Amino acid sequence: MKRILSMLSLLVIILSGGIINEAQASVIINQDKIGKYKIYENMEILEDEEGNLTIDDVSSKTLSNQFTENKEGIPSYGYKSSVYWMRFEIDNQLSTDEFILEFPYAPHDSITLYEQTGTNKYTAFYGGDLLPFSERDRKHRHVTFELTLPEKETSTYYVKIISEGSLQLSVVLWDEEAFSEKSLIEYLLFGIYYGSTLVMVVYNIFLYSSLRLRSYLWYVLLIFAVSMTQLTLNGFAYQFLWPDFPWWNNRSIVFSIALSNLAGALFVNKFLDVQHYAKIWSRILHVLTVFNMGILVVLIMSYSLALHLVTLSTILFIPVVLITTILCWKRGNKAARYLFFAWFIFLLTSLVSFLSDAGTLPLNTFTRYASLIGSLFEMILFSLALADRVKIIQMEKENAERATLLLNEELEERVQKRTEELQISTEKLVSMERSRRHLLSNISHDLGTPMTSIQGYVKAMLDGVIKPCDQTYLKIIHEKTLYIDRLIQDLHDLSRLEERQSSFSLNEVSVQKFIQFLFQFKADVSSKNIKFQFDSQLSIEQNDWVLLIDLNRMRQVMENLISNAVKYTKENGIITISVNEYEEFYRRQGHQAEIAVSLEKIGNIHRNQSLVIGVHDNGIGMDAESLPYIFDRFYRGDAEQYDTYRNAGLGLAIAKEIIDYHNGTIWAESLESQGSSFYFTLPIYTGELEENK
Ligand code: ADP
Repeated sequence: MKRILSMLSLLVIILSGGIINEAQASVIINQDKIGKYKIYENMEILEDEEGNLTIDDVSSKTLSNQFTENKEGIPSYGYKSSVYWMRFEIDNQLSTDEFILEFPYAPHDSITLYEQTGTNKYTAFYGGDLLPFSERDRKHRHVTFELTLPEKETSTYYVKIISEGSLQLSVVLWDEEAFSEKSLIEYLLFGIYYGSTLVMVVYNIFLYSSLRLRSYLWYVLLIFAVSMTQLTLNGFAYQFLWPDFPWWNNRSIVFSIALSNLAGALFVNKFLDVQHYAKIWSRILHVLTVFNMGILVVLIMSYSLALHLVTLSTILFIPVVLITTILCWKRGNKAARYLFFAWFIFLLTSLVSFLSDAGTLPLNTFTRYASLIGSLFEMILFSLALADRVKIIQMEKENAERATLLLNEELEERVQKRTEELQISTEKLVSMERSRRHLLSNISHDLGTPMTSIQGYVKAMLDGVIKPCDQTYLKIIHEKTLYIDRLIQDLHDLSRLEERQSSFSLNEVSVQKFIQFLFQFKADVSSKNIKFQFDSQLSIEQNDWVLLIDLNRMRQVMENLISNAVKYTKENGIITISVNEYEEFYRRQGHQAEIAVSLEKIGNIHRNQSLVIGVHDNGIGMDAESLPYIFDRFYRGDAEQYDTYRNAGLGLAIAKEIIDYHNGTIWAESLESQGSSFYFTLPIYTGELEENK
């Protein structure tokens, strides 16, 4: 049967134009190549599809002819389940016979080396990752055999390779020294690689523990899985991590690739916030995560099914991740650009590795370690992306802190302002309460005193002590009743004004006429031997302006101001009435900063064109503490101490209400014992009535 089969395959090869190379060239070991001899360049290969040929079969004359010469670098057969046989001859021209045969692809399941020890006699040596690591000739990540090649002789070898994964028929012969040297460098470089990944893992675990961002956790899992893939692929995992578990070693590649895909999907999903930028792709990533979890379960049952599934998962994973990253990038997620380049390089290099493993691309140092280099780039770029994220978080934090600080400052300012306002209003309340009490006592006193004297005089008249028709006493009684009447009238007036119940009859009055009106108050002043002055700074044109005022009410205001000025000015004092245009007035007054002012002048004064009317005296003046309260009703300030003056503290409150009604502002400036100035503004009437305040 076997014979028929071999005859048949021979026929196929002849028909297909295949060349049978019977006399294969030996690998000549001499001084030309130093220490390293690429056996694969001079060997022959036979595919055993059924996988049931023995060394006797392949070394028999018939099958011996079916070996084909390898011409194109390292033969690579992808994920095939065939068994491959290799045959090579080594011609040792050197004077040493100790050599090392290396199979530089760690994941092969089983490698059997047959050394010819006589005619048709072969001794077998076993290797591959189905055997425990401890059974290896040499404790090396790759399968190696120690060969003794008789000097100046040619030795023939057969190798049988079986693997469920990718097949790479690379065979290299080394002399002892060269092999040790290259191994040392390799272990050193890989040490650096794994060392860095370990540092990254630890660093990111720390970052996770301090930042509590889940993406760092998935990133750690991803680096761990990618490193595990590399460790397994390169044979280090078997050598150092699980040398006694060939079963697991065989599966660990599928396990670590599935884990990489799983962690990768979780990482991308979380880190790029795909849920927010591309909802559907986030779901697809979730499906991939679950799919890879499934592969981990399948792996326990069937290695080959898991292998196929993980290949499918990787093929799906690549475009999904790329599209997701691009979408997130395009939709404004800046972190996605790092990830895009990282994935691009990693996937490109993985593709190179995959294609070279599958035999599509030629195998060389670059293609073999492409995925390793790619994973290094990936880790560096991912770290940059995460660092970028840390930067963003830090910036956000700083911004938030700055905003909170500003808010606090604002709040503090507001609280302070409110406290001040509260304090002022409390002080006002206290002072008002004081005024009210004073008023009550004053009213009773002011009403009581004249009433008592009236009573006294009337009783004296009744008792005949004073003649009932004595003009002097009747005059006194009359004055007292007038005073009482005035007090009651003022109280009544003020309360009506405050309640806005008083009616005003507003009329258009030219400024000129108003000045004439003001001039009349000269008579009120001269009574006390006080000098009167009138000072108008208005131009002729300004004299033609019009005011909308109630002249009777204005009289009330002026009477109050003038009577106060007279009251608080000593004999031979001067009282001045001034009239100004507001802006001109302000320009003149600007320099008098040291004068205490009763109101926030600028804030309250009407901005439109206004007249400013002033009543100045050089009397007793007021202290700065009294000024803010003089317009409050019942406020009498220090006037009480001037016993000669009898005041109710209502005049200015009434004046303020009237000026308010005219959309004007009233205020006072004063220096103690130097005199006071009372000002009020009246807006110029332009034809449009302004709304009452
Ligand atoms: P009064 O009837 O007490 O004068 P006002 O309301 O007219 O009531 O005045 C309130 C207080 O303002 C006065 O009691 C006085 O202390 C102070 N005052 C008013 N005008 C003058 C002024 N020309 N000079 C000094 N103090 C004044």
